[in-house]
Amino acid sequence: MSPPTLIDQPSTVATAPVALSYELFPPRSPAASETLWATIRELEATDPDYVSVTYGASGSNHDTALDLVDRLQLETTLRPLAHLTCVGGTPEELSRIVNELLDRGVRGILALRGDQPKDGHVPPGALRYAQDLIELIRRVELRRSAQFAAGKVAIGVAAYPTKHPESPSEGHDVEVLLAKQRSGADFAITQVFFHAEQYASLLHRARRAGVTIPLIPGVMPLTSLRRIEKLSALSGVSPDAAFVDRMRSATDEAEARRLGVEATVALAESSLDAGAPGLHLYTFNEHASSLDVLTRLDLPRPARPSLAARRRSTLS
Ligand code: FAD
Repeated sequence: MSPPTLIDQPSTVATAPVALSYELFPPRSPAASETLWATIRELEATDPDYVSVTYGASGSNHDTALDLVDRLQLETTLRPLAHLTCVGGTPEELSRIVNELLDRGVRGILALRGDQPKDGHVPPGALRYAQDLIELIRRVELRRSAQFAAGKVAIGVAAYPTKHPESPSEGHDVEVLLAKQRSGADFAITQVFFHAEQYASLLHRARRAGVTIPLIPGVMPLTSLRRIEKLSALSGVSPDAAFVDRMRSATDEAEARRLGVEATVALAESSLDAGAPGLHLYTFNEHASSLDVLTRLDLPRPARPSLAARRRSTLS
């Protein structure tokens, strides 16, 4: 049995602000970029702690991902958390990309494996698991440590409230999470889940196993049935059948949206009650649903002057 951790105890969590972050993906066309930037401006006004930028498996969108990270740093007050996938990449290729991110001023990396290549073949010497990438990032960081007096590299990892599709068991997933923590992970963001008990159970099992890092629930606004079904097919995570029925029988889009926001708020509130230290919203590059959810939640956020407001006042 591992020593108790203070991180989830109500007495400490109650006084801590709830962390807030969003996931964005690099746009695939000029039109998508325009919509994304309208979304970014709306999200910026909520003063999140960071926004994460996804990265294609095998680096398929390397350039657009880095462009988005650059623009976020240069043109907004937002701090980027750059996702990076590693499976099949060589240590040389991946250290080059990590150095590229650090050169650009990035100080947060979400270290991921990414999807296995279709034929399952990983070349000899290539990285296999997220854990390999964490260790590589820490080695690169060590070589450049003189630069990090004003902020070290924060490494996040993926965590799974329900079994990872390739994993033999939920117990194995927790062992992997513990191994990622030992290799240097600072926090984890969860895969989408549809039942707060799944998050609560992960938190309980992980803490018992000795995982002490924050486990931030990844919450998807449940306003689009099409998206819920697509994601559930991809991740193997099933939504609540009664909720899906209610969404199907919604009289119009507005009714479906109201039901979706209500269900998301309930999921987020129950996760916070279970000890979640924050919320990471999967925005799908749209702001409206996320903002509706946030308005209803009214999270305790840091009482600092909003960076966005400060930025606006310096521009006017
Ligand atoms: P790992 O932790 O390496 O685990 C992968 C599998 O290997 C698991 O089954 C695990 O049990 C097993 N395993 C791990 N280490 C070991 C070991 N040492 N020995 C034996 N078995 C082991 N994908 C993208 O392509 N781009 C993204 O931007 C992206 N962002 C994501 C963000 C979040 C918050 C989450 C939750 C997922 C994201 N993904 C992304 C999906 C992710 O790449 C997949 O879920 C992938 O299948 C596993 O990634 P991982 O980092 O959890 O891998």
